[in-house]
Amino acid sequence: MQIKESPKTYDVCIVGSGAGGGMAAKTLAEAGATVALLEAGPMFDSAVGDMFKWPYQSPRRGAPTHRPFGEFDAAYGGWEIDGEPYTRAAGTQFDWFRSRMLGGRTNHFGRISLRFGPKDFKRKSVDGLGDDWPISYEDIKPYYDRIDKMIGVFGVNFDRSLGLDNEPDGFFLPPPTPRAYELMVKKNCDKLDIPVVPSRLSILTRPLGKRPACHYCSQCNRGCSTHSNFSSPSVLLPPALETGNVTLITNAMAREVLTDEEGLATGVSYVSKDDNMEYTIRAKTVVLAASACETARLMLNSKSSRYPNGLGNSSGMVGKYLMDSTGGDLAGIFPQMMDGIPYNEDGVGGMHMYMPWWIDNQKAKLDFPRGYHIEIWGGRNMPSYGFLGGIHNYNAKFGNRDGSQRPNGGGGYGAQLKDDYRRFYGAMVGFSGRGEPVALESNYCEIDPNVVDKWGIPVLRFNYEWSEHEILQAKHMQDTFEEIIETMGGKLLWNKAGADSNYGIHAPGRIIHEVGVARMGKDAKKAPVNEYCQSHDCKNLFVADGSSFVSMADKNPTWTILALSLRTSEYIIDQKKKGNI
Ligand SMILES: Cc1cc2nc3c(=O)[nH]c(=O)nc-3n(C[C@H](O)[C@H](O)[C@H](O)COP(=O)(O)OP(=O)(O)OC[C@H]3O[C@@H](n4cnc5c(N)ncnc54)[C@H](O)[C@@H]3O)c2cc1C
Ligand code: SF4
Repeated sequence: MQIKESPKTYDVCIVGSGAGGGMAAKTLAEAGATVALLEAGPMFDSAVGDMFKWPYQSPRRGAPTHRPFGEFDAAYGGWEIDGEPYTRAAGTQFDWFRSRMLGGRTNHFGRISLRFGPKDFKRKSVDGLGDDWPISYEDIKPYYDRIDKMIGVFGVNFDRSLGLDNEPDGFFLPPPTPRAYELMVKKNCDKLDIPVVPSRLSILTRPLGKRPACHYCSQCNRGCSTHSNFSSPSVLLPPALETGNVTLITNAMAREVLTDEEGLATGVSYVSKDDNMEYTIRAKTVVLAASACETARLMLNSKSSRYPNGLGNSSGMVGKYLMDSTGGDLAGIFPQMMDGIPYNEDGVGGMHMYMPWWIDNQKAKLDFPRGYHIEIWGGRNMPSYGFLGGIHNYNAKFGNRDGSQRPNGGGGYGAQLKDDYRRFYGAMVGFSGRGEPVALESNYCEIDPNVVDKWGIPVLRFNYEWSEHEILQAKHMQDTFEEIIETMGGKLLWNKAGADSNYGIHAPGRIIHEVGVARMGKDAKKAPVNEYCQSHDCKNLFVADGSSFVSMADKNPTWTILALSLRTSEYIIDQKKKGNI
């Protein structure tokens, strides 16, 4: 195959334009570095997305053609992508979600934007499991502070009497008013001593720079046409591109990082999806931000005589300690909300209130070590195709207004079906736990020796199993959700998950929070990168996505990916000034 070389040598080549890559591109370009930004997917700008469409405009009545979360969702990609397979070791499970588009998963993520707390960086010191990070909350706090102000996040600093001492303060825009069902959850959870507090989402409730405030259409997952929520293409990439220092190459599938005889990175080779030709970009520094597992794949595929196990992998730890958040759900129907008067409850595209983890596992002597937060959903959002799924079963379960039941159970057409919709619309409230797994060396991804993608690039094979820690945590979720639903006077919409299904815990990968395959550590024998996300083996190679995480918290990862990427990018600038790289 003919390989085309770029005539120019860039200061930095960044692979991936999502949260980590977007932040690195902005920071480095604004500091004057010339940047080649390689992105495997096509251009995307939510300004011309589907935010304003009505359900009836969906050509297939809402059924997705190429997007996993519905016809108008912004994701180009999903758990399966044509020509880009991955495999799983026998008896293990991992479902790998990839968004191939400018900005990656930031275009359609949930915008839950939580800082990790002080304990989240020192979990081994707390419960003896896993490892502590080589950095503390105080090291990363200044970067969280700057991101809050740069990107915009709503929320409040919590009343300290609630005891939420692992939920740091931040710089918040005012939160939106709680919805009726969220207030109902709060009122009842107060009885159970479970705190329900304003959520923290990276959505503008006040204008910020050129971006207007949210107008509460509730469709954040479609991408925001007014750029009022956070995505890399709407917040990070425009200022990066405005510097004139960034050469953005889309449809560019990075194959490997190139190195010289001294072991330094010299650039990146990629396959252009436009012409299927192979190209090389020369650069003095390489930053991998392709999403954690894809970064591990690139490192493992970058083999040379100097790096026979893959680039930056003398520790053998690239791919190891893969983590995803745990997840479990339960929902109820609440008679006091049936037959409600329809009104607009849209708000932002996500919850206005949530429950942070409220228990000290060790003090409470729980049988699992790490916590989870609870996301709340329900209400009277704009109905779309498939809303109140399984409506034909509701009447059999919850009966008629007078307490009677239809002779043949649920179901129905015409007036009867419409009546059921009116009756149950707004009467459902659901709970989703998102929890912290324990990092295990035995959960990992590696190169599958037998399978390549459509460009001939070796693919990943996953080895992942939940341990007892996560399964017992999932049991606690189910018990808690049931208790909340019963306290609220509701009936379970489906049966509580039991031991036969590992208490309903979702398969690894399903919560889409992959982190931790090139963890940071001071000891080069145990960790691929140092506390600045710089390879121990190859000093001009850095990672800027979730791959450097030592542990996952019960928080969603993106705010920490952004903070680490900002910190790493400023370290690169500093090291370049000092002539160290
Ligand atoms: C439905 C959904 C909801 C979520 N909700 C939340 C939430 O509420 N809060 C939260 O914190 N997180 C959430 N997440 C996770 C969040 O999206 C990720 O943590 C975040 O986007 C990770 O940033 P990243 O830069 O590592 O990866 P990405 O944003 O995925 O970006 C990686 C980019 O690299 C590109 N790329 C990959 N391989 C290559 C290659 N070989 N060559 C060139 N380019 C490549 C990809 O195309 C992509 O654009 C959610 C994710 C999904 C899918
Ligand atoms: S809810 Fe607000 S931020 Fe979300 S898409 Fe609508 S206007 Fe944009």
